[in-house]
Amino acid sequence: MRRSKSQVTRILVCILLTVLAIVPFAVTTRFSASAASDITLNSSVQISFPTSMTFKVSAQSDVNIVQLRLHYIVDRQNYANVTSEGWAQFDPATSVNAQWLWDMRKSSLPPGSQVEYWWTAEDAAGKSAETNHSTVSFDDNRYNWQSITTEPVTLLWYNGASSFADTLMTAAQQGLQRIENDTGSTPQGHARIYIYASTQDLQGAQLFPQQWEGGVTFQGFNIIAIGVSPSELAWGQRAVRHELTHWIMGQITFNDYGAGLPTWLEEGLATYGEGSLSPDYQAALNSAIKNHQLISIRSLSSPFSAIPEQAYISYGESNSIVTFLIQTYGKVKMVQLLNVFHQGSGYDEALKQVYGFDQDGLDALWRQSIGISTASTTQRELELAATAG
Ligand SMILES: [Zn+2]
Repeated sequence: MRRSKSQVTRILVCILLTVLAIVPFAVTTRFSASAASDITLNSSVQISFPTSMTFKVSAQSDVNIVQLRLHYIVDRQNYANVTSEGWAQFDPATSVNAQWLWDMRKSSLPPGSQVEYWWTAEDAAGKSAETNHSTVSFDDNRYNWQSITTEPVTLLWYNGASSFADTLMTAAQQGLQRIENDTGSTPQGHARIYIYASTQDLQGAQLFPQQWEGGVTFQGFNIIAIGVSPSELAWGQRAVRHELTHWIMGQITFNDYGAGLPTWLEEGLATYGEGSLSPDYQAALNSAIKNHQLISIRSLSSPFSAIPEQAYISYGESNSIVTFLIQTYGKVKMVQLLNVFHQGSGYDEALKQVYGFDQDGLDALWRQSIGISTASTTQRELELAATAG
């Protein structure tokens, strides 16, 4: 969901890459505790959002403690559970207090991420011990969050009356219903939507504020964060529906090949899920049609331009293309298309398999549907002409 300069899809990619980088030294070996252990262990966690998480442990034994290791698993869908390790640094002693610090400047987590963790210890006599497994939530504890839940969504907010949250929740449920009705897509699992009171607050939840505003969906984590002040309720309702659609599409199209949807389909569906096209996008689309500045569907399969005018046209056009597909060919075909993408198909192959035309064919049919001849000059052609001239 974008509100000004930037482009969320590109940010989503950045976030996914960051998240994947969390486990630089993943291990698969599981600790096996020795039968008789005299080691006593106690652990705790301290959260300093968004910069770090400090895992603390105290250990006592008759002989020196020589090794303390933290093991942790980040909860996210669609990835094999990977156990990572952190080794506490300390001088061997019979009583030890040690810690391992997760520095989020190296690899960050979205607010509300769940991390399962446990400690293992070894002493100089070769005895070992393991704490119980615990789960910690990397909560943004700078704010006093309230929450409401209507399955499959929990909405968390800290600014505004409960009616504000209720209105956003109603919008969320309407958005889910619309996407289910028109694309056959039902969500799996449970999403948590964090409503920050402003764009500034939202950006403050990130260690590296990105050049984007509005909302972001953390795929795989089932977490959405949006900046909405109570005075922007109408925009907030759109944003909630938009990001929930991204959440569902991320679940449906996940595949082992890592291929997603073309951007025009991803953002076209997300804006479709909003309920109606935002006036800004509609105006940009109308203007592009009038001035022969439409962008080819093939170009729109890549991340959208960062130039605001181009981005607005891209969103408006994508919405129009998806609406055309759903209204002309129906829900069943859209369901099939998403299923084909789920299997990791290429963009043109998927369209051909389901509709019998590729992206260029769709481009021509869609232009016809809005009363434009396929011979119209496209933006790309204009650019080429400009370069040549
Ligand atoms: Zn979007």
